[in-house]
Amino acid sequence: MTNDDQTFARIEALFDIELFTDVKVLIAGCGSGGSSVALQLVMSGVRNFTLLDKDTLQIENVIRHVCGRRYLGQRKIDAVEDVLLDRNPNANISKIEADIMDYRDMESAIIESDVVVLATDNEPSRYRLNELCVKNRKPFVVARVFTRGIGGEAFAYRPGSGGCLACLEMVLARTTFRDGIKEIDLVSEEERQKVYGMEIEEIKDSPGLSLDISFITSFHARFVLDAIARGLPQRPKYLIPIDENYIIWGNRPVHPFKKHFHLQRIDLTPQKNCAVCATESAAHV
Ligand SMILES: [Zn+2]
Repeated sequence: MTNDDQTFARIEALFDIELFTDVKVLIAGCGSGGSSVALQLVMSGVRNFTLLDKDTLQIENVIRHVCGRRYLGQRKIDAVEDVLLDRNPNANISKIEADIMDYRDMESAIIESDVVVLATDNEPSRYRLNELCVKNRKPFVVARVFTRGIGGEAFAYRPGSGGCLACLEMVLARTTFRDGIKEIDLVSEEERQKVYGMEIEEIKDSPGLSLDISFITSFHARFVLDAIARGLPQRPKYLIPIDENYIIWGNRPVHPFKKHFHLQRIDLTPQKNCAVCATESAAHV
């Protein structure tokens, strides 16, 4: 970046974006969630991205994705790259056209990044990344939007202190927050289990307004900035640490949420009987 570049002039008072110069972020999934988080990050001064996705942009994506009609038919990794470079031509973008479930170098891609943005739309890929990140003590942040955009959740894995995605499910299974929430429309819990058991790669994601999803992607991006800041030698003053590692957000008063903008938070610790977290402690005792 040249000294007279005013791109980040409006946020320079908040923190020194030069602190982000070497930070590398892996965007695992470039759909509406991953692309929105990537856009927020590049506009926050993050410069080094690896984009991973296997899909092309379809017409039904346009009302929720950061890329509009002009990118129809293009690979999402190319379309998102173009959008990121439009905001910061000095960004460094690597691209991987692959499916998370069968990409052989997934572990290397994780190891080479500082923070993983987990933005896929199905459980098998989330759990594969959860396992690889825990094994390699790599911070990741995942978010999900619930059916019809009634709300969603964001979770940050913090190696060494917080629980993992499997821990989270164990804890949530005992709360009201899993009661009535399904991520996938028109599929019963039983059917979903069956489908996942068959390892079908992709399941149609849940409908929801871009507006409703944007609350979740904002939390997602904010947790990613927090994860980045935790890894810096010097924490930027205005990026105050987020105490909790999980939030659940209700957009409107639909069960299990009681009101509009209903926020609950949890500080999740590793669960004693978590098989995934056991791999972290086994490898690093
Ligand atoms: Zn765990």
